[in-house]
Amino acid sequence: MGTNNLTGDSLDSQVVPLSLNLEQVTDLIIERAGQLVSKLIEQRGHDKPPFLPGEFARLQGIKQIVKADLGETSAVLLRFGDGYVIKVNQNHSLARQNFSCVHEIGHNLLRELKIELNTEDIEYRTFNSQAPGRIVAKARERLCDAAAAELLMPEMVFRKYLSGFGVSVHSIERLASIFKVSIHTAAWRIAEISIEPCIALRWQPWLRTKSKGLRVAQRMGPGRESRGKANYMPLHTYVRPPSTLHKAYQDDSAVKCHKLFKVDNAVKRLPMESKGFGRGETRFVISLAFPYR
Ligand SMILES: [Zn+2]
Repeated sequence: MGTNNLTGDSLDSQVVPLSLNLEQVTDLIIERAGQLVSKLIEQRGHDKPPFLPGEFARLQGIKQIVKADLGETSAVLLRFGDGYVIKVNQNHSLARQNFSCVHEIGHNLLRELKIELNTEDIEYRTFNSQAPGRIVAKARERLCDAAAAELLMPEMVFRKYLSGFGVSVHSIERLASIFKVSIHTAAWRIAEISIEPCIALRWQPWLRTKSKGLRVAQRMGPGRESRGKANYMPLHTYVRPPSTLHKAYQDDSAVKCHKLFKVDNAVKRLPMESKGFGRGETRFVISLAFPYR
């Protein structure tokens, strides 16, 4: 056993040196989540999705998942004398409840890893110039989200389904339904782990203007965030009507177009597929853009 033995089979009692940067800690927590997935698959004898929070909770010795009215809070991990209980917000969609629960399991994994995050380890640019305590708290939440994604949509299994369906906006709904996650979460996972590099964008109406334009609300990929990979950003993050994106927003059919993206110091024209999801005020458009198509 060398001092670098951070990846042993045991899910207990690993002690991790504190001199890790955020990227290394992210790798560790995802690896830890992956170990829990492997353990579950071994116990079940199959790797068929969905991977539900209750299954992981059992493996983690979390006694119970309780649905409750938590107001603004998504979920909490509570410690009682005889173990842990997750309370999850019953007013949220089931997909969101699933994510909230496994996020709490992520907190449990982080606790087991005995990692203490130091502000020096966290890139300030990611979190602007917020107070150090808040930066650490945000980084911790991101780590738990990374663990949650791996638990609900294990990389190997998700990739198998993705390659079966094809990297396309048409696959998002099917993947979301199979893995019991939200549309947004499935789209993000595609951009995160797709073998073919792919960028996911979420467009939403920009309500502060009267022109009914759509604006990029979030962006992911290609690959996991902050991995030193090429950073593709749409040249125009606000689109006025009429546009193909507005067509996607209005109808349920997918549309194809090309869009300019900034990458390093260049501008590239990339093929992009877009589709509208949701109803009413919460409707949004997800686009997938492909740097090498
Ligand atoms: Zn949290």
